[in-house]
Amino acid sequence: MAKVYGIDLGTTYSVIATLDENGTPEVIENYADSVQLLASAVYFPSGGDPVVGKEAKNQAEVEPDRVVQFVKREIGKPNAQTWDFDGVKYDPISISALILKRMKEYAEEQGHDVNDVVITCPAYFGNEERAATKQAGIIAGLNVLNIVNEPTAAALNYCLREFRESRKIMVYDLGGGTFDITLFDFSVDDSGKASIDVIETNGNDRLGGIDWDARLYDYICKLYYDENGVTKDEMDAELRQKIRSQVEDVKKSISSMPSKSFTISYAGDATRLEVTREKFEEQTQDLVEQTMDFVRQLLKEAKHSADDVDVVLLVGGSTRMPMIKAAVEGLFRKVLVEQPDLAVAKGAALAAANVWNERVAKRRDGQEVDFASTQGESGVTLPPITEEEAAGLMINVPQQVSAVNDKLTRSLGPAVFVDDNQYMIDNLLFIGDEMPAEATATYGTQNANQAEIKVVVFENVSRDKANNYVTPSLDKNGNEQYTDPSLKVKKIGDVRLKLPPNTPKGSPIEVFFRSSTIGLEVRATNLETNESAETVITTENTKTREELNEARERFASVRTRGQI
Ligand code: AMP
Repeated sequence: MAKVYGIDLGTTYSVIATLDENGTPEVIENYADSVQLLASAVYFPSGGDPVVGKEAKNQAEVEPDRVVQFVKREIGKPNAQTWDFDGVKYDPISISALILKRMKEYAEEQGHDVNDVVITCPAYFGNEERAATKQAGIIAGLNVLNIVNEPTAAALNYCLREFRESRKIMVYDLGGGTFDITLFDFSVDDSGKASIDVIETNGNDRLGGIDWDARLYDYICKLYYDENGVTKDEMDAELRQKIRSQVEDVKKSISSMPSKSFTISYAGDATRLEVTREKFEEQTQDLVEQTMDFVRQLLKEAKHSADDVDVVLLVGGSTRMPMIKAAVEGLFRKVLVEQPDLAVAKGAALAAANVWNERVAKRRDGQEVDFASTQGESGVTLPPITEEEAAGLMINVPQQVSAVNDKLTRSLGPAVFVDDNQYMIDNLLFIGDEMPAEATATYGTQNANQAEIKVVVFENVSRDKANNYVTPSLDKNGNEQYTDPSLKVKKIGDVRLKLPPNTPKGSPIEVFFRSSTIGLEVRATNLETNESAETVITTENTKTREELNEARERFASVRTRGQI
């Protein structure tokens, strides 16, 4: 039996899982740290191998300039930070590659052979962040079968274990800085084959544990003032830092205890303070309500009532706060806290096995399977195989899932001129479209004798099918950028097509879009000449094929370590 792996590449911690012979997901222990999680931190000791994990995280206190953490917040983003260690330049993609490589290596040190993987990413990640995540996998020497949304993985892990019949489930995911909710339809057909479809998603990528931290910080400052008469504005940087460094611990403690006492030592004085869960909840009730507003809005958009939902799964570290479970229980009949740290990696392992089995089945049915979309180079195909060979390659799964139908998280469209100076985005693919999604539209050239056309592609969060025009604007450098932040309009790339001389105004150009979980393919065709130009959009925030191959070769000889 073949083995494939699921990786939850997290902001603070990462996890790798696989399936045992019975198809049950199991997490592979990070034995160096004796835990199942790997801290997503990389330390670059002068002249030595990069160290990934707990030791690296701890080293951040001692040598903050040589430790990189929270890189997931930067991956695939414009103008992302880069680092230079001993003359080698690193970007968020290569740092993520080192984290993935460490997981691959510690699993291999325990007898695994990690090649084919599914990596998860947040549901709110756009095209570029997904492409960048995949590239990190390629650089780490992995064959990335797919990129799957974290809530989808969590839902898959639960559904395949619990259900043999159709259900509606919701994943409520409150992490450190983001909040996501997804409503799924898990259905099982007569042959026992399951499928999991996203009905609706909602959330806010600027709402998470740090907002609770900020409230608690303000509240502790107030308690400190009550004791010492020092207002927040009068506190110096050292005192503020002393308070800030206690906040997260206090918050976590009152998730399991009704109150927490602690001491702030400053300028020779020790101030003893106490925060009760009740007071903390009072200070943050409106934040919980904000999340519930998103939940109600999602139900409304999906035309479902709370009673239609069979179970709500709570994932993400911040759902450990009892006020979250209480609020969700106020609306739904069944709410479960699902191993928030491990569920995503386990679901990713199930997703990987499903993709793998689908490919084996195709080859058994006499088809070639194209690996071009999962490798750095193109043209790698796997030949058909016999029934017997297929049987040896199939992975035992609790239920075969016919499709892990992730949906588009951004609408996508080209910019279209409406007159000489103004243009709009004509969305061809929409948020919520099932992937792979395809669309074609035909536009006329703007001027007579135009030398070339440029199809500029934008992503945005407009969902309005009837009126799908969004006006992009320019930033101070003249680049098309976010306009209304609520629509997240963003240029993600372009395709240029040369036109022959004397092409008349209004000549038809066909534009084709195809979006899969891996990226966006765009093709422009001159319908008069049948000449076309196409690209898979990898923009300035991801690497070119050459850079990718170069990085993969360079990283092949890099060894990571788990301990200093
Ligand atoms: P995640 O991004 O899912 O790892 O979630 C990280 C967030 O969960 C951070 O804001 C943590 O402070 C928060 N968190 C982790 N454990 C707890 C806990 N026991 N109580 C409250 N918040 C927690």
